[in-house]
Amino acid sequence: MKIAVIGAGVIGVTTALELVSHGHEVVVYEKGSGIAQQASFAASGFMGPGLVNSWTAPGMFSRQFKNWFTGESGIRLNGLLEFPAAWVWQWLRACRDPEFSLKLSSLQRLAFYSQEVFKGVTEQYGLSYESSPGSLMLCRSEADLQKVDLQLSLLKDAGILYKTLSAADTRAIEPALSTETELWGAVCFPQDAVANCRQFTLLAKQEAEQLGVVFKTGHEVLPLSVSKPRLLHVADKESELFDHVVVCAGIHSKAIVHKLGIHLPVQAVHGYSLSAALREEMDAPLCGVVDAKHQVAIARSGQRIRVSGMCEIGPARQASEKNTGLLYKVLNDWFPGAAKTQDNVQVWRGARDVMSDGVPVLGLSGVPGVWLNTGHGNHGWACSSGSARAIADMVSGRDCEIDLKGLGIERF
Ligand SMILES: Cc1cc2nc3c(=O)[nH]c(=O)nc-3n(C[C@H](O)[C@H](O)[C@H](O)COP(=O)(O)OP(=O)(O)OC[C@H]3O[C@@H](n4cnc5c(N)ncnc54)[C@H](O)[C@@H]3O)c2cc1C
Repeated sequence: MKIAVIGAGVIGVTTALELVSHGHEVVVYEKGSGIAQQASFAASGFMGPGLVNSWTAPGMFSRQFKNWFTGESGIRLNGLLEFPAAWVWQWLRACRDPEFSLKLSSLQRLAFYSQEVFKGVTEQYGLSYESSPGSLMLCRSEADLQKVDLQLSLLKDAGILYKTLSAADTRAIEPALSTETELWGAVCFPQDAVANCRQFTLLAKQEAEQLGVVFKTGHEVLPLSVSKPRLLHVADKESELFDHVVVCAGIHSKAIVHKLGIHLPVQAVHGYSLSAALREEMDAPLCGVVDAKHQVAIARSGQRIRVSGMCEIGPARQASEKNTGLLYKVLNDWFPGAAKTQDNVQVWRGARDVMSDGVPVLGLSGVPGVWLNTGHGNHGWACSSGSARAIADMVSGRDCEIDLKGLGIERF
């Protein structure tokens, strides 16, 4: 079948690779001049089921509200006019149990499956990219651990490994952790990993191209129309008809399917990352770590250290460099000598496409021939390979290897 994929971030590229491996003729449309230039550009790189969380959790709102007053929240709202009231209302409802547990279990299942598919793809094509095994969630106090209690109990139910460590055991795993910062302990996720999302996406694109996928960069697809949803119109270019269309356009997916009567309750939540040259091996992290209190991640990516986190709603009010104080603080708290932060630091601001219930939308859109693989929020990299395989199976009329309950558009 002739299939169009809209968007060449990690989701679109992995989807194209799976579709061509399933024997289809695939064309990828990307409005930018290259691939992986939006949300997939400089993400933290955490993958695996341990650290996925659905953005919704019982008590989340009151915690963030309190943090706002103490100035410790990583969430920033740029103007009251930007307040996404309807989305927040739906989000609050999704924070209640059992809705929260069901959604988180779906996400963990997808991340677990993605990891298996990812390993298979890496081996099959012999891909080599920057990566490090394992991850740690650092707790400054016991209270940090209690906040994720429910999340951890669900991991246990899903058979996903994790271990709570004392401060001494944590320091044995990460000897460079600063002793100046109070450490209560950590949760260790041995099955997780950190890997370079953009690098992988570029490699996957090469493989897809060799198998015959055509990448059309500089091609912005106009919103799909009700009369002919599978006829793709591209600004200033010829239109083309496909048997199927898979929408993988990140935060822009909403506008692409809007005229079809599909309303995606998605919100752009921007985050930041800093990437700085490694200063001293001995002072750098060995695996990926996440500061549980500030939800800031630190990981090594080849000869660089990447620090990322924060949530910002609304347009940037000032230069990105002025918004990254929390990232520098957390880096200095844990690994003060690890990176050269004085010059040539790459500061990046990227948009996470966060659905109101915190989990992606996978599957048929409700309009024949139009499929959705979008709304991945903070876990698009972790869930990319499994989501791509599942979509390719569904489009090809095969049974999925994973239960996608709770991830379809019909839930809204
Ligand atoms: C600070 C930060 C840290 C993160 N850390 C992690 C992490 O540790 N682990 C993890 O799993 N995830 C992480 N994420 C999330 C992850 O980066 C995203 O979920 C993932 O990159 C989404 O990929 P995507 O392909 O859906 O979107 P994108 O990469 O944004 O790709 C969408 C593409 O569609 C194109 N497009 C849009 N509209 C059109 C159109 N009309 N026509 C043609 N093309 C179009 C865009 O140009 C873009 O290239 C992080 C995100 C941020 C911001």
